[in-house]
Amino acid sequence: DELISQIAAGEVVERPASVVRELVDNALDAGAHQITLRLLAGGVRLISVEDDGGGIPREELPAALKRHATSKISNLAELESVHTMGFRGEALAAIHSIADVSLLSREVGSDDGHAWMLHGRTGELAPAARTHGTTVEVRELFYATPARRKFLKTDATELAHCLEAVRRHALARPDVGFAVWHEGKLVEQWRVCHQGEPQAALAQRLGDVLGQDFLAQSLALDWQGQGIRVWGRTGLPDAARARADRQFAYVNGRFVRDKVISHAARSAYEDVLHGQRQPSYALFIEIDPTRVDVNVHPTKIEVRFRDGREVHQAVRHAIENALAKPRS
Ligand code: ADP
Ligand code: MG
Repeated sequence: DELISQIAAGEVVERPASVVRELVDNALDAGAHQITLRLLAGGVRLISVEDDGGGIPREELPAALKRHATSKISNLAELESVHTMGFRGEALAAIHSIADVSLLSREVGSDDGHAWMLHGRTGELAPAARTHGTTVEVRELFYATPARRKFLKTDATELAHCLEAVRRHALARPDVGFAVWHEGKLVEQWRVCHQGEPQAALAQRLGDVLGQDFLAQSLALDWQGQGIRVWGRTGLPDAARARADRQFAYVNGRFVRDKVISHAARSAYEDVLHGQRQPSYALFIEIDPTRVDVNVHPTKIEVRFRDGREVHQAVRHAIENALAKPRS
């Protein structure tokens, strides 16, 4: 089982940012409102993710590090929808097989009144102190596989990838606050947006994460057709210097990298602006989960649409509509 986990780890964990993505994902699943990351050496020496979510009961701590231990599938009926969300119960086990993992957690409303600490390496479980929520610490990534460790880039580069992973989550969840510390210094902090209206909340978070310039030079969009809704913001190409790292697409709340979406966005820009330009956007695509398969890749970043043409048209129309409107 250890070997299977290590193989899974090879697919799931490419670099510290992959761990960051999975741990923040778990914190959000646990209902966190505030997530704090602490990194050392670009995440290679330490990735600590602290949340104020529901916590893990003491008796479930050891299982959380085992393969296919997931609290997120409770019956077969749920399997279909869980399947489309990409829940697999493998991330923590995979990370545990290639790094030194410890869990510190206090369940909301737990009777024993204190937190528990599990050291993954020794399996030792001991009482500890903290308010409700969970802290997952991952130390010395790839310590047992020096060959893989060699492939890592400089700390600054790995940190940049970690920040990008947090950004992807943060744009989708303006209702959650994020803070990132590196080597003891606060490097990013995005406060909770209390805007109830999604478009307003997105605008606020976009301004915080990508800068007020980007926000000022972007347009809101919202389009619906053929059972697909596409909403979000798209950059004005003449003003904002669009960059590939400002292309954020989400399918049912999950960040994806998808050729259908990026191609549709590029086509829309070319149609409206009659020139080759890199679009920039934060697009949220809402579609019936049965029309999309998320589990084509273990990292869950890639999706396969049952009908790519419809998604292509929806994205293209959404952006064209926004760009074609006279600016006010
Ligand atoms: P999955 O998220 O697919 O269920 P993981 O390996 O990522 O699998 O996590 C295993 C289990 O550990 C989760 O199902 C959950 O019960 C528990 N867990 C992990 N991280 C947290 C967290 N931050 N808060 C609460 N529970 C967590
Ligand atoms: Mg998970």
